[in-house]
Amino acid sequence: MPIPVPPQADLSPEELKRYARHIVLPEVGEEGQRRLKHAAVLVVGVGGLGSPAALYLAAAGVGRLGLVDGDVVDESNLQRQVLYATAEVGEPKALAAQRRLQALNPHIQVEAYPQRLTAANAWRLSEPYDIIVDGTDNFAARYLLNDVAVLQNKPFVYGSIARFEGQVSVFYAAEGPCYRCIFPQPPKHRASCAQNGVLGALPGVIGTLEATEALKLILGIGHPLIGKLLLYDALAMSFDVIQLRKNPQCRVCGEHPEITTIAPHYDEAACNAAAAEGEETAPSISPQKLAQRLASPHPPLVIDIRDAASFHAGHLPKARHIPREQLPQALEDLSRDTEIVVVCRRGRRSAEVVEQLKAAGFTRVYLLEGGLEAWQAESGPDFPSRNTPPQQTEP
Ligand SMILES: [Zn+2]
Repeated sequence: MPIPVPPQADLSPEELKRYARHIVLPEVGEEGQRRLKHAAVLVVGVGGLGSPAALYLAAAGVGRLGLVDGDVVDESNLQRQVLYATAEVGEPKALAAQRRLQALNPHIQVEAYPQRLTAANAWRLSEPYDIIVDGTDNFAARYLLNDVAVLQNKPFVYGSIARFEGQVSVFYAAEGPCYRCIFPQPPKHRASCAQNGVLGALPGVIGTLEATEALKLILGIGHPLIGKLLLYDALAMSFDVIQLRKNPQCRVCGEHPEITTIAPHYDEAACNAAAAEGEETAPSISPQKLAQRLASPHPPLVIDIRDAASFHAGHLPKARHIPREQLPQALEDLSRDTEIVVVCRRGRRSAEVVEQLKAAGFTRVYLLEGGLEAWQAESGPDFPSRNTPPQQTEP
């Protein structure tokens, strides 16, 4: 178990009363509550994910909470960022959050860092904390936090959300893979909340799961999501867990790591370079190339992840219909070197699925560039028709 924090601090009579529902749990008890009091958690980004995560960590009695966020509260945040009140629009989030959490629990210390996380401050901000909780909404910060966590040998509780779906994992290189093992490069097609939208309660679920994982790590109880990625789909109301593997070639936690310090030039060197690599090496296949491959003796497995109605209205020849939420189970028995092409309407959702399949250990997985729309736009006399009957039906 990663960090059962030593149960040093004593509890006052007020604290014993406040945490009674914890203390009555044999898995927590007074000793566990003292571990919580002695623990320090850094929440980076106090927005949609950071709000519930920080609220629950503060309420649970985590002794020292750090809050990093350089933004101010915007009216459009209030739909999901439950730390803030309407009257706080325009205030720095870290300070408004600190006030709210301190009002919730005066027995803990809350430290506010109203600044953007950068390569220059990440090491110093993270160092005094035992666990880093991801409340960020961008890749640069996430890669940076992962690398800091690996180099400082502490768990990084990861969460991300988009539209109606979210993911959670615990990256802890001492016992499992890190974020970079799973996502060596930032995906090519990924939009932020502002572009994509997000259901208000979704970050509540994911941020609360992140808080739960952090509490388990501190208490040393249960099975944290180390080496596992939890996928949540709010529309289907489904949870899936896929196994993750450590990458021996990982640039930060592999056998021959290239990233050994967080240098001041890290932002440019690591993130931009990774983004540029991502542009070149994003695993995709053009419609023309796929048509050739489908005509070959060993065609790839084509998986259409759209809904049933869209699939039946038109799809690629030999496409197999597997709605996204059924993918983890449907592919469980497949060999990890099966060649797979993922198809959606325009390619954007496929990009996320390709990342998930890669995370599950599939090595030859591609998205169809531009999705079915690009395929249909190519359709000519030599091109397979859009309404070719499926060779395989829904599983
Ligand atoms: Zn790694």
